[in-house]
Amino acid sequence: VIRCRAAVAWAPGKPLSVEEVEVAPPKPGEVRIKLVATGICRTDEHLLQGCFPNAEFPVIPGHEGAGIVESVGEGVTSVKPGDKVIPLCIPQCGECSFCRNPESNFCQKSHMSEPQNLLPDKTSRFSCKGKQIHHFLWISTFAEYTVVPEYTVAKIDAAAPLDKVCLFGCGFSTGYGAAINTAKVKPGSTCAVFGLGGIGLSVVMGCKSAGASRIIAVDINKDKFAKAKQLGATDCINPQDFKKPIQEVLTEMTGQGVDYSFEAIGCQDTMIAALASCNMSTGICVMIGELDSGSEISIDPTLLLIGRTWKGTVLGGSWKMRECIPKLVSSYLEKKFNSDLLITHTLPFAKVNEGFELLRAGK
Ligand code: NAD
Ligand code: ZN
Repeated sequence: VIRCRAAVAWAPGKPLSVEEVEVAPPKPGEVRIKLVATGICRTDEHLLQGCFPNAEFPVIPGHEGAGIVESVGEGVTSVKPGDKVIPLCIPQCGECSFCRNPESNFCQKSHMSEPQNLLPDKTSRFSCKGKQIHHFLWISTFAEYTVVPEYTVAKIDAAAPLDKVCLFGCGFSTGYGAAINTAKVKPGSTCAVFGLGGIGLSVVMGCKSAGASRIIAVDINKDKFAKAKQLGATDCINPQDFKKPIQEVLTEMTGQGVDYSFEAIGCQDTMIAALASCNMSTGICVMIGELDSGSEISIDPTLLLIGRTWKGTVLGGSWKMRECIPKLVSSYLEKKFNSDLLITHTLPFAKVNEGFELLRAGK
């Protein structure tokens, strides 16, 4: 058992509390990882506010981390102590029908198939003050050590800077992959990206690298525009600057609406606006943002009748995580894109609540 620090969410709506926790050794088929860095994603905020489906408290959040294998359980062969790794929120067992389908990055072994926050054997490896603490998405990266199933770990290049590539565990891969894999953005096309957080900015990067000729970035926080332009946005617009609905503005700007639209906010209204902003016959709208658990959305079905496509994506579309994350890290090391530009602040672990304040303040 390792004693180390972790940020525990004891109850919804409360700040995280950095505590000493016990982390049990890995059981057969599991890997214990010493985490070196983690990003903060809006999904962690949904969890903290009690809006994430099927979440149980107390829980250790975090799902965008990178670290080094500390020890492995019996039977683990794909990683060994000392390997640099990124824990994955979507596993890749390699055997289920989803894993065998090249079009899917989902896995039937995923925690999303079962409403609970424990490891696959239905127990936790974390405890604090005599209480069992839940895992989040099986990976709980707001801890100095975490235990995960082997099939949810990607081994990456030993040269990778962990404080930079941790973003590949969620934000960068999700946004970049939504453009490349889910929408399959074509060269010369027009795109609109709603929301310029870590996810939306990564979508902008994906659209740019796919060769889009026009990338319209949409956000109510104009402080995000300079970074969006630096990453490839050609136009930046704030819906609050217009009297008309933003879908009408985008349709006027592009003639018939954009070829691809992306919602990276997580609001009903912007999901509908993103859908209505793309070409009524051939447009593809990708929903990335997450609504609070139990939310519903209602649309005028004629939005889809003429042929628009409305899709969702989780962690980069068809990217099979164990295979693709190492390749993305290699492309990063070869300087094919610069995801470092997404990093706005770097804080010591003890200031994790300050990190959430920065996220809430749109910084
Ligand atoms: P973020 O909070 O950093 O960014 C959201 C951005 O949206 C902010 O810049 C904000 O100013 C902007 N915004 C808010 N309301 C707006 C409005 N009405 N119109 C225009 N812009 C508005 O969030 P993030 O970490 O980038 O995450 C974005 C969403 O993606 C969240 O809902 C998150 O849960 C979800 N997410 C989904 C996946 C997936 O796999 N599908 C993975 C990670 C995150
Ligand atoms: Zn995330």
